[in-house]
Order: sequence, then structure tokens, then C-alpha cells
Amino acid sequence: MTTTDPDCLFCKIVAGEVPAELVGESATAIAFRDIAPKAPVHALVVTREHHPDVSALAASDPALLADLVSLADEVASDLSDGQYRMIFNCGPKAGQTVFHVHAHVLSGTHLAGF
Ligand code: IMP
Repeated sequence: MTTTDPDCLFCKIVAGEVPAELVGESATAIAFRDIAPKAPVHALVVTREHHPDVSALAASDPALLADLVSLADEVASDLSDGQYRMIFNCGPKAGQTVFHVHAHVLSGTHLAGF
């Protein structure tokens, strides 16, 4: 899937139709602060194109997934010390609530292991 979904919140953020605090961008992805941060630094990194989740993106365009991960790494260095946790929730049972692929980048504190 390579189109925009008019009903998708993150497509609206990519289009500038919903405000967000941008913290990074590339040709294929943007990064913005999570509205309900779970750490001192909590950014979301999303593809400009609509893909429903990381599993779909890995299957359809692994190079684009690599671009997203590169931007996430860059954002973690820009906003913090380059030490971070990256999470992809994939599917409702994993806690995914917005069905547009996104990496959570958490940093800025000592995160507990699990
Ligand atoms: P998920 O649960 O992995 O799908 O993550 C969705 C994330 O989007 C959650 O951490 C929400 O806090 C975040 N979120 C929801 N709406 C907005 C918004 O308008 N701006 C920024 N983040 C949002």
C-alpha cells in the first residue's frame, strides 16, 4: 500500500492537517513528539506513505523500513544521548492503536530492562 488514507491520523499529521511538534524528517519519513510521552524523550517516527503496520511494511518495502529506522536513530541522537529504546507495536494485541506504521523512540532517562 503506497497511498494516503484520508481517515488516518498520522497521514493527517504528515499532510500538516493535524498539528504536531516535528523533531526530524527525511525524504520518506517524519518524526514528531508523542502527545502522551512515556519518557522524557518520546518521539514517533512514521513513513510519509500509509502502511498499516511494521509487518506490512517489512513485507512490501524493507528499504523504506530501513529509512524509518535511520531517522529514528538520528532523532535519538539529536534529542538525547543516542541511547534509546525503539518499539513497534504491531497489531491490537500488541497495543497498536494507530494503524499507520510508527516507531516509538524512548530516551532521556534510565529505562528499566524487561
Ligand atoms: P500505538 O499505541 O503504538 O499505536 O501508538 C500510538 C501513539 O500515538 C500513542 O503513544 C499516542 O500517545 C500517540 N498519539 C495519538 N494521537 C497523537 C497525536 O495527535 N500526536 C502525537 N501523538 C499521538
